[in-house]
Amino acid sequence: MYKVKKSKIHNYGVYATKNIVKSTKIIEYIGEKISKKEGDRRSARRIKEHLDSKVDGSVYIFELDNKYDIDGSPKYNKARYINHSCSPNCEVEIKQGKIWIKSIKKIKKNEELSYDYGYSFDKDDFRDHPCKCGSNKCIGFIISSNEWEKYLKYLSKIIKK
Ligand SMILES: [Zn+2]
Repeated sequence: MYKVKKSKIHNYGVYATKNIVKSTKIIEYIGEKISKKEGDRRSARRIKEHLDSKVDGSVYIFELDNKYDIDGSPKYNKARYINHSCSPNCEVEIKQGKIWIKSIKKIKKNEELSYDYGYSFDKDDFRDHPCKCGSNKCIGFIISSNEWEKYLKYLSKIIKK
């Protein structure tokens, strides 16, 4: 149903290899199940390594529930290659201890899969995550669509200054 290949958005991406109907569970986000505490520790370490070396800044720690995280950094986790988009065709569904990437609309063969990474807006570091999704709704940075209003308010405040 999908394959990993070079992406126009960022590095690698995941592409549909056939037409996919709406509400299809496409890929499970898999990895090591770890405690929240361990998840926070690994996230902090990876962010620090990234700041020190300016290499791949991806953290791949996914919140499973209020007790556990999934560390999706192993290469066998193909879902880690899915890019963020401001106009995504998939969403994340967490059910019974599993994280699924599910289609929210019809997806055509060869289309790139994407979902909203759900990043909250932070005025100090949003610039670290530019978005190149190419959608005509693209807001320019990887910010959850739930937080766009905050971002736009921030912009209008700056313009007034
Ligand atoms: Zn975008």
